[in-house]
Amino acid sequence: MDSKPQGLGAGVKGIGKLCGAPWARRLIWGCRKAFSSNRAEGATYRPENLRPDSVTTLLRLGDRGLYCEVGDFHIDPWQPVERAVITHAHGDHARWGSGTYLCSREGQGVLRTRLGTDASIQSVDWAEPVDINGVRVSLHPAGHILGSAQIRVEHRGEVWVASGDYKTDPDPTCTPFELVRCHTFITESTFGLPIYRWCPEWQVFDDIRAWWTANRHAGRASVLFGYALGKAQRLLAGLAGADIGPIYTHGAVERLNRDYRAAGVRLADTRYASDLPKGYDFSGSMIVAPPSAAGSTWLRRFGNVSTGFASGWMRIRGARRRRALDRGFVLSDHVDWPSLLAAVEGTGAQRVWVTHGTREPLVRWLTERGLEAMALRAQWKGEEDADPVEVAGEEIPA
Ligand SMILES: [Zn+2]
Repeated sequence: MDSKPQGLGAGVKGIGKLCGAPWARRLIWGCRKAFSSNRAEGATYRPENLRPDSVTTLLRLGDRGLYCEVGDFHIDPWQPVERAVITHAHGDHARWGSGTYLCSREGQGVLRTRLGTDASIQSVDWAEPVDINGVRVSLHPAGHILGSAQIRVEHRGEVWVASGDYKTDPDPTCTPFELVRCHTFITESTFGLPIYRWCPEWQVFDDIRAWWTANRHAGRASVLFGYALGKAQRLLAGLAGADIGPIYTHGAVERLNRDYRAAGVRLADTRYASDLPKGYDFSGSMIVAPPSAAGSTWLRRFGNVSTGFASGWMRIRGARRRRALDRGFVLSDHVDWPSLLAAVEGTGAQRVWVTHGTREPLVRWLTERGLEAMALRAQWKGEEDADPVEVAGEEIPA
């Protein structure tokens, strides 16, 4: 039933020229108009003959999270459970205290760093089936961060896929998203509004390199904020070979860099900033740090700096102003609106559950196109809460 990615690019044509369009600045109140303008270019749904032997609720939302009653396991539970299947190591999806954890082989290192040495973690290769009380479970790449997985759950011919957080854009730090055919698709909607459309990654890195070069010529250090797990490493992969100046990191970033390098991901050379003596001259260098470091005393050591933040939220001009940043770089580890629609279409699912983000607009859009769509009050938070400065319960030194 699985199939390779097909035609995902079809829904994202013209993103580059749409980025920066004036209408994109209108967020909520302008959304209705943007919706109607997108209908013509959105995905076309062609219901296919994907009928399971019996239609059941194979997964349901319980007090502790997404639960499979037949298999007696949870997916990304927000409270401790006996058996947890984990999509990825971000703090809102991988929480402490469960009896056992199942994750992808690729994601084991970062999950271990997050959960500590005491956690019982079992890992599997991509698409390797595991039988849990008669339910066939397999993990497939989600393209979000290192090791991020979609969980495919199959029982009596019925297939569900819980995608966690995902993106379909290329990212050198993790295995690319794989389209998995299913009857029911459980999706995030972190950036589920038509205003969210990402520019190509190379364009964002061109902007970052130009900003860094200008700062270097002006004798300033460049402080680039990005979530410590995933985004920071994607920034460092994009800056590998830039040859502009030295790159320093915050402790929370450096710790996770080790896991990425151990998994074979090529990152730019970095140095832990706190290793440098007091009074060290950082002018012209790049510093990669988590957003929580903004405004902290830790930043003072770098002297005259220009600050930037790499996030999908930087699509909204007010988000940069509110944080008093000099620059915002629109770079997200989540699907944008066209890619989200293309992914949903590609799964062939007739039923779609929307778990976190801007749920209602997506549910309405899908329902209007004949799908059985529903919003679920899950406690995952997408890009908001993906900043694990705490790793394995201990505070990470800056
Ligand atoms: Zn995440």
